[in-house]
Amino acid sequence: MINTLYWMTHDLRLDDNPALVRAAWSNRLLCVYCVDPRWFSAHRYHVSSMGPHRWQFLQQSLDNLNMQLKSLKQHVLIEFGYPEQQLATLIARHQITRLVCSRQFGVDEKAVLASLAKRLPELRIEEVDTYTLFELNDLPVSLPETRKSWTYFRQRAQDHPMPLPLQAPTSLPTSPAERPAQSWPARLPEWASVAANDAGLFGGGETAAQLHVQQYFASAWPAQYKHVRNELDGWENSTKFSPWLNRGCLSVRRTKMAVDAYIKQHGSNESTGWITVELLWREYFQWLALELGTQLFRFKGIAGRAPLTCVHPERYQKWCHGTTPFPLVNACMRQLKQTGYLSNRGRQIAASCFVNELGMDWRYGAAWFEHQLTDYDVAVNWGNWQYIAGVGVDPRGGRHFDLDKQTAMYDAEGVYRAKWAPGITDSVLDSVDAADWPIG
Ligand SMILES: Cc1cc2nc3c(=O)[nH]c(=O)nc-3n(C[C@H](O)[C@H](O)[C@H](O)COP(=O)(O)OP(=O)(O)OC[C@H]3O[C@@H](n4cnc5c(N)ncnc54)[C@H](O)[C@@H]3O)c2cc1C
Repeated sequence: MINTLYWMTHDLRLDDNPALVRAAWSNRLLCVYCVDPRWFSAHRYHVSSMGPHRWQFLQQSLDNLNMQLKSLKQHVLIEFGYPEQQLATLIARHQITRLVCSRQFGVDEKAVLASLAKRLPELRIEEVDTYTLFELNDLPVSLPETRKSWTYFRQRAQDHPMPLPLQAPTSLPTSPAERPAQSWPARLPEWASVAANDAGLFGGGETAAQLHVQQYFASAWPAQYKHVRNELDGWENSTKFSPWLNRGCLSVRRTKMAVDAYIKQHGSNESTGWITVELLWREYFQWLALELGTQLFRFKGIAGRAPLTCVHPERYQKWCHGTTPFPLVNACMRQLKQTGYLSNRGRQIAASCFVNELGMDWRYGAAWFEHQLTDYDVAVNWGNWQYIAGVGVDPRGGRHFDLDKQTAMYDAEGVYRAKWAPGITDSVLDSVDAADWPIG
């Protein structure tokens, strides 16, 4: 008798879900999602990992998953607590012999698995590649080679075959546990205790993801992608796949196949090819993160070079809430806070300003993005921040975006600034002049 626990993480879908298919080779199947209370408490950068936008998207995604599983007479049990404890309790309660989950790329998630393996040596743990194009045992480069450069990876990855996507299962083993009525514990902060009833910019879940991908590839947008992807605003200017990809509502292999199908039907141009390049960037950061472990969060980064920056609390507040002396950055930061989304160019501008104009420790900026972004991904976020701070894999050693030039290129008419930061007058960077400080 095999009883399997499928620990769901960034794989909230039925379509092309090799972990679900693997977990279903079982007599009984218990699907579990853990909401970790640590996500909601401020960590060392004084902000919690989970913010309202991603939390709402996550709740919607879980609701949608439960609706889909219901048609297969299954459900996902949503547990609130430390995963290493919750899972161990469920494993004992339901005589679980095998745990299946998606491959984890972040150190915290890997620590949960290590803790379970230590505590329960008899338990069989299987990590499955559901989140990436490639599988760990068939990568285009070895893990240590990811340190060389993105270009090295890309040249080898672009023609490397990926496994074919799998169909959604048509039946699943039954669960050993009843589905309880869901309610969120009182320990959650107030903003997180309310149910997700506002649709937000993105609707969470596999159903919304599939509809969005269908609509995107039915439009003329993919054919223009490369020319408009750097625009600061506009739904159609980039794919907006990231929130669904990163909660696993959408399979990245299925997405790559949709790009290929579009090219087959409409012909290839540099734009369609560029969507695949961006998916490869995402891929690159995952394997790099797995190789780096805790180095991904290190001030000196991979480069091992400490930037000449520090922490100024006042500047940090001004950047987070969009009241710096830089109007374009203010508009970016306000859009991020209001919507949970910011274009790639907006993220680059805001991050570059944080490090270069404000002279701030890049990790505080990365932590604020982590809190705000609906599409937050540990590998992509911290990897991009390292890149901009000049401590990552970038052979050019950091990116400094000239704010005047960026404003002239992307917001010459001031439409973006007027939309997101209307009436914000220039403020000073520091209200306390160091010359006024008492000496001796
Ligand atoms: C400082 C900083 C932090 C970032 N943090 C995140 C994050 O937490 N999560 C996240 O998904 N992206 C992050 N990005 C990358 C990028 O900004 C977003 O992926 C993109 O804006 C999402 O919008 P889209 O889906 O319309 O992208 P598109 O331009 O349509 O790209 C298609 C897909 O390719 C991938 N992609 C695009 N740009 C990048 C990139 N620079 N690096 C890696 N993958 C990319 C994404 O999966 C995206 O969905 C960050 C970029 C910077 C500069």
